[in-house]
Amino acid sequence: MSGLTAPKGTFDTLPPDSERFLAVRDALTAPLRRAGYRYVETPVFEHTEVFSRGVGESTDVVTKEMYTFEDRGGRSLTLRPELTAGLMRAFIEHRLHTGALPVKLWAVGSAFRYERPQAGRYRHFTQVDMEALGVDDPALDAEVVALGVQGFRDLGLTEFELLLTSLGDATDRRPYREKLVAFLERLDLDEDTRRRAAINPLRVLDDKRPEVQAQLEDAPLVVDHLSDATRAHYDAVRQHLTDLGVTWTEAPRLVRGLDYYTKTTFEFVHRGLGAQSAIGGGGRYDGLSASLGGPDLSGIGYAVGVDRTLLAVRAEGLDLAGSAAVQAFVVHLGEEARRVAVGLVGRLRQAGVAADTVYGGRGLKGAMKAADRSGASHVIVIGERDLAEGVGQLK
Ligand code: AMP
Repeated sequence: MSGLTAPKGTFDTLPPDSERFLAVRDALTAPLRRAGYRYVETPVFEHTEVFSRGVGESTDVVTKEMYTFEDRGGRSLTLRPELTAGLMRAFIEHRLHTGALPVKLWAVGSAFRYERPQAGRYRHFTQVDMEALGVDDPALDAEVVALGVQGFRDLGLTEFELLLTSLGDATDRRPYREKLVAFLERLDLDEDTRRRAAINPLRVLDDKRPEVQAQLEDAPLVVDHLSDATRAHYDAVRQHLTDLGVTWTEAPRLVRGLDYYTKTTFEFVHRGLGAQSAIGGGGRYDGLSASLGGPDLSGIGYAVGVDRTLLAVRAEGLDLAGSAAVQAFVVHLGEEARRVAVGLVGRLRQAGVAADTVYGGRGLKGAMKAADRSGASHVIVIGERDLAEGVGQLK
């Protein structure tokens, strides 16, 4: 029977939840549309290389979680585990960097990761993604972060928190990396973790296992090793955030699951969600374009999980008005009234009124029940006598 149910880690979103899902998705993208970000669509699968190079070889996402397959032409393709790498690929391929900068883009859609499913963690989920590309300006970092905050605020959420740090740039990272590697060498770590540390030692700071975390208490932190320039950049970001009325918590151990982040890095967490508390996250990724074969351009952006934000909305008991209810419901009695009703519903819809009627000849009682279920504010009843008089009754 398993072939006839939704695959493990996936789910169907049905009414009325599906309407709440749409409301959340739209609320999360509205601030972007108001801030000059432009909509983009990219394929849900890409050449595997886009993600192995774009997301990073040391990440769980690339090593364990990708849905990779060979197509009938022998190409290695991968269902996107996130949206940024594909957007960057498109940005480079279509040379969007030759126009005015920054290029501000947003996208929304499915992402796929072969993860162990649990509450808030699925194998198919939906992300809202945004990117501001080609300009390294702390004011832009602050804009990006503030737009994320705005989406959550517009939904009425209050129990979320912004975690913020700076991961330094490539120059800061080199001496810091040596210090961290020396520190990690003295620890009792398994082979797998050592291998990961060899590719990206920062990764280890993100290890959630208590036995690893216990050993990391005195680990050197990037924020203590920032150059004057990156420190000034981070100070400016915080100043702009303050001006924008955004509050945050300093999170010097924040690393995030993708390899490409530099400088400003952040995560949105929600207090009502348990283990999978991250509702969104992002940061600056000044090396990503170059690592995908593009020009050496900076970028910053974030991804927010629509599904998890919906869970957060539910956890706070917020009532998002479903938009499904029609305004008018037409009930008809008798064969001739049906023809009039069908025509009337068509005209109402053409005039922009959300309207519905009853199908399948269910009699007055069934029709009134259907009208009730539709949530319509107005019910128009057309009976035989009304027909003769050319009127209907409005309830
Ligand atoms: P990431 O791309 O890992 O930074 O994730 C960004 C956001 O996407 C997270 O904060 C979550 O809200 C959401 N997300 C990531 N992975 C999953 C998943 N497996 N299931 C549901 N939501 C996810």
